[in-house]
Amino acid sequence: MASPLHILNTVFGFPGFRGQQAEVISHMVDGGDALVLMPTGAGKSLCYQVPALCRDGIAVVVSPLIALMQNQVAALTQLGVRAAALNSARSFDEAAVIERQMRAGELDLLYVAPERLVTPGFLSLLDQCRIALFAIDEAHCVSQWGHDFRPEYLQLALLHERFPAVPRIALTATADGPTRKDIAERLGLGDGRIFVAGFDRPNIRYRITAKKNAKEQLLRFLEAEHSGDSGIVYCLSRAKVEEVAGWLTDKGYDALPYHAGLDQSVRAANQDRFLRDEAVVMVATIAFGMGIDKPDVRFVAHLDLPKSLESYYQETGRAGRDGLPANAWMAYGLEDVAKLGQFIASSQASDTQKRIERQKLNALLGLCETTRCRRQVLLEYFGESGAPPCGNCDICLEPVASFDGTELARKALSC
Ligand code: ADP
Ligand code: MG
Ligand code: ZN
Repeated sequence: MASPLHILNTVFGFPGFRGQQAEVISHMVDGGDALVLMPTGAGKSLCYQVPALCRDGIAVVVSPLIALMQNQVAALTQLGVRAAALNSARSFDEAAVIERQMRAGELDLLYVAPERLVTPGFLSLLDQCRIALFAIDEAHCVSQWGHDFRPEYLQLALLHERFPAVPRIALTATADGPTRKDIAERLGLGDGRIFVAGFDRPNIRYRITAKKNAKEQLLRFLEAEHSGDSGIVYCLSRAKVEEVAGWLTDKGYDALPYHAGLDQSVRAANQDRFLRDEAVVMVATIAFGMGIDKPDVRFVAHLDLPKSLESYYQETGRAGRDGLPANAWMAYGLEDVAKLGQFIASSQASDTQKRIERQKLNALLGLCETTRCRRQVLLEYFGESGAPPCGNCDICLEPVASFDGTELARKALSC
């Protein structure tokens, strides 16, 4: 059997494993079950692709989106790996070819949609194959706590009953406590190991300050630390985006607005300028940022609260991709908490959904009000415990003696 490192070098062309990849892979090669929680871009795919090539038989990968499957299959095929995808985009004849290859043991990896996997026909086909492992990618889809619940994922519980000897690996970037627990329970990963790693962004300095006059506070922050830098300022509403962008422009900044109410062409032009020029400050709603990969964003400022710790982590994570020092700065006030609470109460969501949103908001308030290292609080939320105080957040740098009155808001909101 080829060693994982040999496969990494020769098939994938990478010199070494990253983070916990080596540990996860050796655990899978040995036939263990695993739940892998790593942020986007950390390299979760290799955690099942390498074991797929080390172990005998075909690896069956469940993935929720046809586009994701096609990308992965195209990339693997280019590397000479025998991979295919079965989903609704396949014709009857194409599917028949793939099924024949499966029976003949001619595939290393098969990507399949969850609803397809659980059909009686497909399960009996699997009975005739030697299976290396099952990988459940984007495993948060199994949980209502995740942001992308898909009922078809629930049926994947049957894999464990039907193929008890086949190792299973579930992977996701959404790793808060309830989601983790839900995934492990619903997929029957009870005895599996949990690998959590890579959420820390040590070059980002976290700061959360009591909101007084947010615009003035932002201006002082920018003047003191970020003249000539690129950054993003997040606001809750479109109106506020326009107001703040206009105001920063008056103060001499190259500030541009971005929100879903702007014309598509304006949005594209502003995004282009942000990516291309130096020192553009993008003032935006959360409509901005998905898929933006600008390495030298030096700060992300929040003038309003994000809706959860996941959102905070994702939005602040757009800063400092180049590894150089970057700031995550947020102004936090009582009125924001009340506003978000009302938002949730008056939304059309189900009671369960509202309860989940309230708890997520409470977890965010926990970060705002903590007197402990902010990074510790953030990492613990994502399941990484045991980190020492970071020395690179406001609490570590300027310890405070006591709270202000915001604890009241937290109580008012608690469920
Ligand atoms: P995730 O699913 O965790 O978001 P991916 O599996 O898509 O991440 O990997 C992200 C990128 O990192 C890919 O381009 C992948 O080839 C690259 N990558 C992953 N592991 C390694 C490694 N050990 N060495 C070099 N590049 C890697
Ligand atoms: Mg992935
Ligand atoms: Zn700290």
